[in-house]
This record gives sequence, structure tokens and C-alpha cells, in this order.
Amino acid sequence: MCQGIWLGGSTYEFLKGEAVHWVMHCDMQYPVDSFDLAKRLGFKIISYDELDEEQRAAAYETSEDAFFIDKDGEITIFYNNNMSPERIENSVIHEVSHSVLDHGIDESRKDIEETEAKFFTKYLKAPPPLIHQLPIISIDSIKIAFKLSIEAAEYAFNYYQKWLKKFDGNYKEYEIKLLKHCGFDKEVNKKAS
Ligand SMILES: [Zn+2]
Repeated sequence: MCQGIWLGGSTYEFLKGEAVHWVMHCDMQYPVDSFDLAKRLGFKIISYDELDEEQRAAAYETSEDAFFIDKDGEITIFYNNNMSPERIENSVIHEVSHSVLDHGIDESRKDIEETEAKFFTKYLKAPPPLIHQLPIISIDSIKIAFKLSIEAAEYAFNYYQKWLKKFDGNYKEYEIKLLKHCGFDKEVNKKAS
């Protein structure tokens, strides 16, 4: 695992902006459903059990979770349907993120791209400015509101705490876009009025 890689402040800002961009581009609402997101992007989704025996063996060899193939711009995501629903959900968005971030071209960036995809997935599933709008903010409420696994909800809660420490009442541009998209216009206009 490559949890240790620090991508740099500007890369994290870029990834957050990209996550918001794709949420808006696909007109997604929360909690985000990964299959819906992939379909709105025009991706095909195929489970490992739909493959024939030989293909299935190759799929497992490629990844125990999921992977995607880009065939002349036509993207197909293959996923292991025998995993838990939360894990599948996470894996499919993970593959979507590799695809929309144009990953997989430069082999030497593999570890960085893994870290980028993980961050993009976590941010897209539960962005701190949206967590901030919950009436009660706890691991449990985040888990329910954003349909996360308990581990993902813990991560989102901790990440939200970090965000909150830096938050001075002014949202960043992509945060304003996201809040407006999700119907929190009042929250965005609070300061202006
Ligand atoms: Zn990956």
C-alpha cells in the first residue's frame, strides 16, 4: 500500500476540483452510487461472474477487486461481484477515478496514480464541505449519509476534522460549486448577505 506518498498541496487541490467536476458533470446526488456514476460516464460494467472461465481466471489475476479496459475510448469496468457491497462500491469508483484522471499510460507513475485514485475516491464519496452540512456529525451519521463502510466513514470523519481545523468560514471555489449543486445555496450565501 502507498499510504505514505504525499502528493503535494497543489495535486490534492487539483484532485478535489476534479472530483467536484465529475460529480457535477454527471449530475450526481449524494450518496453517490458508483454504478450510476460509471453508467452516466458511458462506461460498461461487467462482473467477474459474467465472464467465461478463462476470462474470469485472467480477471482475478489482474485484480481481486476491479480493473478497467480502455478500448479506443470505450471504457469497460470489470469488478469482482463476490466482494461486500461497500467494497464493490469503492472499487468501481476507484476504477472510474483512474479512467477520468487518464491513468495507466506511464508505468513509472503507478504508485502515485494509486494514491491519487484512492484520494479522489474518498473525497468524491464524502467531501468535507458536505459532511459539514449534516445536522449531527459523527462516524455513524457519515456512514449512513454517504453510504460508506465503517472504515471509510472513520477515514472521512478524520479527514473532515482536518478540514475543519483549516476552515475559516470561507469556502473554496470548488466547494461552493459542490454546495450549490447539492442545494446548499443558503450556506454559500451566508457570508454575502
Ligand atoms: Zn488502482
